[in-house]
Amino acid sequence: MIILGLTGGIGSGKTAVATRLAVHAGVRVVLADDLAKQIMTDDPDLRAGLVAQFGPDTFDAAGALDRARLAARVFSDPDALAALNALVHPAVRRAMQAAIATARAEGVRLFVYEAALLFEVGADALVDHVALVTAPEADRVARAMARDGASEADVRARMARQIAPHEAERRTAAVGGTVVRNDADLATLHARADGLAERLVGELPRIGEVPGSDG
Ligand code: ATP
Repeated sequence: MIILGLTGGIGSGKTAVATRLAVHAGVRVVLADDLAKQIMTDDPDLRAGLVAQFGPDTFDAAGALDRARLAARVFSDPDALAALNALVHPAVRRAMQAAIATARAEGVRLFVYEAALLFEVGADALVDHVALVTAPEADRVARAMARDGASEADVRARMARQIAPHEAERRTAAVGGTVVRNDADLATLHARADGLAERLVGELPRIGEVPGSDG
């Protein structure tokens, strides 16, 4: 099994690449956002750490994380944010390792971990290959605005909190990764995603396709 870390800035098209890869048999896609939500309920060490650090009000009476309260707490306090990340990032890595073990046992050939933050949380160390999706800035802004119904200022503010595109490309090159350029239409992006998968694990049948049949 090959583990692919798929990353890219807001609106770059990484979810589009992940969705495309998932139409192939033998591919498992795990989204970092889903893992992050899951560990907030399922990881007792993380929950205990959050309560110790931020107090019992971190979780509401029903046991759900009070996101707004936690966000407000770390918003303008770099030390609190660092403490939060020191708890959450290892928990994400633990959950990722568990998902990888399950996929391996189930015979998955290509495990795709899609994450806006890959290098930042040290998850690049857990993958065999990194793919960075890049797109022209104007396209990224326009697509994120259209998808989220957000203002340009909001999208640009979120962009500013991510690592700069040239730095992401530098880090990708440093680990021998692949840059997937999303500078044309979706069909072109799909073809590039298929090419990447084929290079990593060989040709994969599409789900529902009969091997050997053409068309
Ligand atoms: P985020 O980190 O914000 O979730 P992302 O990198 O996952 O962003 P996507 O959600 O894949 O980005 O793409 C943003 C939007 O742009 C989606 O609605 C997607 O369908 C669309 N999109 C992506 N690439 C193209 C393209 N080449 N042509 C047209 N639309 C595209």
